[in-house]
Amino acid sequence: MDSQLQSVYDAVLRRNPGEAEFHQAVREVFESLEPVLRRKPEYVEAAVLERICEPERQIVFRVPWVDDDGHVRINRGFRVEFNSALGPFKGGLRFHPSVYLGIVKFLGFEQIFKNSLTGMPIGGGKGGSDFDPRGKSDGEIMRFCQSFMTELYRHIGEYTDVPAGDIGVGGREIGYLFGQYKRITNRYESGVLTGKGLTWGGSLVRTEATGYGTVMFADRMLATKSQGLEGRRVTVSGSGNVAIFAIAKAQQLGADVIAFSDSSGYVVDEAGIDLDLLRQVKEIERGRVADYVDRRPGARLVKDGSIWDVPTDVALPCATQNELDETQAKRLVANGVVAIAEGANMPTTPQAVALLQDAGVLFAPGKAANAGGVATSALEMQQNASRDSWTFDHTEERLLQIMTGIHDQCLATADEYGTPGNYVAGANIAGFTKVADAMIALGVI
Ligand code: NAP
Repeated sequence: MDSQLQSVYDAVLRRNPGEAEFHQAVREVFESLEPVLRRKPEYVEAAVLERICEPERQIVFRVPWVDDDGHVRINRGFRVEFNSALGPFKGGLRFHPSVYLGIVKFLGFEQIFKNSLTGMPIGGGKGGSDFDPRGKSDGEIMRFCQSFMTELYRHIGEYTDVPAGDIGVGGREIGYLFGQYKRITNRYESGVLTGKGLTWGGSLVRTEATGYGTVMFADRMLATKSQGLEGRRVTVSGSGNVAIFAIAKAQQLGADVIAFSDSSGYVVDEAGIDLDLLRQVKEIERGRVADYVDRRPGARLVKDGSIWDVPTDVALPCATQNELDETQAKRLVANGVVAIAEGANMPTTPQAVALLQDAGVLFAPGKAANAGGVATSALEMQQNASRDSWTFDHTEERLLQIMTGIHDQCLATADEYGTPGNYVAGANIAGFTKVADAMIALGVI
């Protein structure tokens, strides 16, 4: 990092103490920006770096709710409205016990550049709560969501801030959140949330979009080397929304997906994942990976160690941040991995990314590879605004166009800035310059 970038980064560390994930996300972007500042000194003069690291607005609130035993419980809610230079704040809500301001800020910061890469008119934001949905009854989930929205509703709107799902927030939670928003505001404002159910304003392909898009991106990367996914061994971490539809698309493209995981361990199924069984266990029964192994002869559960120990050609980290470290990256390289696409946000540590790139592995950062989810959310907003709904095939075709466009934009930008084949630099620079130009055009605000 040059001295200008370093001094802004030092200020970020001082102003946001204890927020390690946010620091990591800022550093990761800054490390790509040196050639940009050389070419565009106006960014420094307009203090774009300082401004882009400071959220436009941060909301932290109490979320009181009553559990099934009648006890009052208190969680903390967050919404970080990071940057609206390109459009209304847009980004998911995460419900997980690990959520604190630093996680929400890292995700919101990433979201700015991801949303910019999609080419859609959306700014960046993120939110969530330290609420743990695991083991809660439907009634408890509903009461929590209603309480969360009772504060959040005053900060969001189709032209202001449009939340969606993330870890722990799927179709059920979006339903309860939207119901409470509608009740409080007396408005059927479809465009205020995305990831809605298909019968009440949702878009076909939104559920599948992040996982599908990640695999589409991996497929585009392999195509630049005249390769494909057909017959490749693929490993996918996680078994939530992103992982399940990454597995589905990889299988459609002829890959042999042989491993997946959750926080209790990983499963190796050399015969190929039985997707119907996995969806039954995870989406309907809300069970654990062990429940899959119990019903699948030949599959084995590994509780210790890492899913990245499994020899694989293509790795798709789709669980959570910093789940793939340097040691695991070394193992993947030793086992001959050729491509990695991040379905999750920042799942690979910086040291692991450097090691993989040095080893010549095709590496797609999450802000590019998993942008299909938010892009399809923007398509959902388009359909809501025109009171229309598109077919699955049409929407999937749009998703493929968008993912191909992001891929090509990353590659072209990496070339233009002298780092050919570096998707990390390409994504950071392409995402950043569009936002920076808009910020300058809009004046000091
Ligand atoms: P999800 O449906 O809640 O699934 C998350 C999966 O990751 C679960 O299998 C979960 O296992 C596992 N996981 C979560 N935290 C973990 C931890 N600390 N250690 C080990 N495993 C953990 O969430 P999702 O929507 O698939 O999101 C997965 C990732 O994709 C996140 O990084 C998210 O930010 C990113 N992403 C999501 C979207 C989207 O459209 N949903 C879009 C872009 C990016 P347990 O059940 O055992 O916790």
